[in-house]
Amino acid sequence: MKKINAKKIILFIIPIFLIVGISFMIVNLKKETKPVEIPELILKYKNAQVELNDKIYNLDYITKLENGHILTTKELVDTTAIGQKKVDIEVEDLNKQIQKIAIYIDVVDNEKPTITFPAEINTLVGQEVNLLADVVVTDNSNETIIPTIEGNYDFKVVGTYNLFYVATDSSNNTTKESFILNVKEDKKSTNENNSSKANTSTQTKSNNSSNTTKTNTSTQSSNQNSSTTIPNNSTNSNSSQTSDNKTEDNSDTEVHFTTSKGFAGVTKNGVTYIDGYLVVNKTYSLPSSYGKSLTKETTDAFYVMQAAAKLDNINLWIQSGFRSYNTQYNLYKKYVAEDGVTLADTYSARAGHSEHQSGLAFDVNIIDDTFIGTPAALWLDENCYKYGFILRYPNGKTNETGYKYEPWHFRYVGKELATKLYNNGNWLTMEDYFGITSTYSD
Ligand SMILES: [Zn+2]
Repeated sequence: MKKINAKKIILFIIPIFLIVGISFMIVNLKKETKPVEIPELILKYKNAQVELNDKIYNLDYITKLENGHILTTKELVDTTAIGQKKVDIEVEDLNKQIQKIAIYIDVVDNEKPTITFPAEINTLVGQEVNLLADVVVTDNSNETIIPTIEGNYDFKVVGTYNLFYVATDSSNNTTKESFILNVKEDKKSTNENNSSKANTSTQTKSNNSSNTTKTNTSTQSSNQNSSTTIPNNSTNSNSSQTSDNKTEDNSDTEVHFTTSKGFAGVTKNGVTYIDGYLVVNKTYSLPSSYGKSLTKETTDAFYVMQAAAKLDNINLWIQSGFRSYNTQYNLYKKYVAEDGVTLADTYSARAGHSEHQSGLAFDVNIIDDTFIGTPAALWLDENCYKYGFILRYPNGKTNETGYKYEPWHFRYVGKELATKLYNNGNWLTMEDYFGITSTYSD
């Protein structure tokens, strides 16, 4: 009886174990194949419009992110040029899936240029003055903006003229500022001559170069625009004068000379040309009234170079272009006050000796030693000559140029001379090539 019972129990229990076991396996199997509930990634972002040179970060435009995280690191967006910027952001969701999103940022320029200018300019009847001599235009675009004058005036007619300076940037933002030109009666004048010493009310008379103190009006009209041509021969040239003589009378003066390397030089009304090229350095100066802006040939060539650089992902802009005699006078004075004459002379020109006054030279991007070795600096060093520019103050040529290495300062000379001075990458200076000095006389 007992034996039968035990057998029955075993036969009864085994199937139960089997059923329970199989059921357990099935449940477990089901558990394994059932998908895990992972919340979906929620990501929202906005495309944006920002002002030129605004400081913005790539991650500024993610407005919402849940159930995932950003892989892209935070960095500044380059807003130095107008146009659409594509910013790529990588996001990883909880499934470890990587999503790439593109944010588009439109860099625009709605900011107007700023004009600093003399509110009132005084002159005597018959005496032309350069109304742009002390006008400086700055803009967030860092481009060189040449101001224009709106309104009618006549230096030959006494009167008070209400005029405007107008500056427009490449995005067509325009600033208009009014100023007054007073053309006063010349009580001392006894006859109708053109003898005049160009002078605005704001001009500084004191300077340290004898041939920059005075200039006659014909200097301005005849010499302002060209860098590569020798000015017209004067009928009353006076070869007995030296370039250091003052030009007190109203006749044109012309002094001819030959450089130590045999190039023909001429100093006409205080402006020196060697082999037809305008030269400004510590030896050769410009009259105080000379120049009004970068010349068109300089800016035209710059724009071509700028576009070529852009294709190589290099952004170029003119940080400092034309500087008037007075601007340079104040700049140099400031540097001397800070560093003393000896040091200031290694990096800043005295008034009348700055190439920036010629309208043929400018400084790009960053005007300090942090510019050395940057992609832009290297690109310019290798390519600027193709567009007619020279690296004016090469490294290690201080003894020749009188200035320390300035990888940001470029001078327009045209492609022919630029190619010669580039010298297959081993830059020659104008001083070495022409056989001239660059030293102050005092
Ligand atoms: Zn410079």
